[in-house]
Amino acid sequence: MQDMILLKLGEIVLKGLNKKYFEQKLISNVKRRLKPLGSFKVYCFQSTIYVEPQEEVDMDAALEAMTQVFGVVNVVRAAACEKDVAAIAEKAIEYMGEAMRQARSFKVETRRADKSFPLSSIQISQYVGGALSDAFPDTAVDVHEPELTVHVEIRDFAAYVHSRPLPGAGGMPVGSNGSAVTLLSGGIDSPVSTYMIAKRGVRMIPVHFFSFPYTSELAKEKVIDLAKTLTRYCGRMTLNIVPFTHIQEEIRDKCPEEYFTLIMRRFMMRIAQRIADYNGARALVTGENLGQVASQTMEAMTCTEAVCTSVVLRPLIGFDKEEIVRAARKIGTFETSTLPYEDCCTVFTPRHPRTRPKLAEVEEAESALDIEALVEEAFTHTELMKLDL
Ligand code: ATP
Ligand code: MG
Repeated sequence: MQDMILLKLGEIVLKGLNKKYFEQKLISNVKRRLKPLGSFKVYCFQSTIYVEPQEEVDMDAALEAMTQVFGVVNVVRAAACEKDVAAIAEKAIEYMGEAMRQARSFKVETRRADKSFPLSSIQISQYVGGALSDAFPDTAVDVHEPELTVHVEIRDFAAYVHSRPLPGAGGMPVGSNGSAVTLLSGGIDSPVSTYMIAKRGVRMIPVHFFSFPYTSELAKEKVIDLAKTLTRYCGRMTLNIVPFTHIQEEIRDKCPEEYFTLIMRRFMMRIAQRIADYNGARALVTGENLGQVASQTMEAMTCTEAVCTSVVLRPLIGFDKEEIVRAARKIGTFETSTLPYEDCCTVFTPRHPRTRPKLAEVEEAESALDIEALVEEAFTHTELMKLDL
């Protein structure tokens, strides 16, 4: 008899009329996430999603996968046993032993989906509670404010015992909140900003600007790797790899050096906007962080976002580097991000970049370029790469 996994839903429980829609999104995201791990039955009942393996599966891997799905606040592994009250009590003693020893008080709560079971929920709770009390005499019964609640579920084919949940990823199901283009470099920040906006239910379209041969094939591989890691949370994504060499060379040849980075960043935003419009995405996302570098002062960001028509989301704007690093480690992108390959931002960097630029000056500095043609050329030659787990 196989264990199963229960997923407790977060904010979507509050969504009233839209609840069904959110639940359906979440169920399909859960199914997609489980697909490589075997066959599972997934269904929703009373704001809980039930994940039942239909064959021998790696439960630890399934459990971990479920902690990475947005829209889930808690993940619980439930131990299965025969639908017999003595077997349930025995399972509870075995499975809850460690937790019972640590808790000062406990109670048992039973849910009976199978109404034909001969005992009532209260009778089951009393029986299992009694057995646990006998086995762990130092842990008192407290039905009002117990430290530990032991849950028993009587379902169609088996009974289940479970307790302490693992924290889920929180947020809202990806796909329930529109889509956005995320600018993904090979650095530490942008995978984290991508994760954060996906967490709010947004489907992400990653875009990477690639300056071959100034940046190498390895740098590109690194970004593909990062995007692939992010599919654990974001689901299927299409990575847009934009050829950026010609634009950078044009800037180098025709613009004043102190504006190189700003002009380059304005091109990134224009092309990202073009990709967003093409895909019906309604926002742009960057890993910018106030004051981190010359191009991330308030004045510089005013100049870069002036070329966008969509809102620019910068979820890391007020973070300290340490906080970003902690988040990157947690989501599993830090190792790849710190591999030592160059980014196109480090190509042709000005010796003395303008930190307090004025929009009119930047516009003047880029006036020698045929902006529209360059954007169109890059957009047309963008390589699309479908990524999944
Ligand atoms: P990161 O760690 O994300 O690279 P950073 O601190 O190095 O951030 P910048 O290089 O100035 O910052 O870039 C700021 C933001 O611009 C990045 O977070 C990312 O969203 C975007 N960006 C920079 N370079 C690229 C690139 N080559 N392709 C796509 N987006 C990029
Ligand atoms: Mg970078």
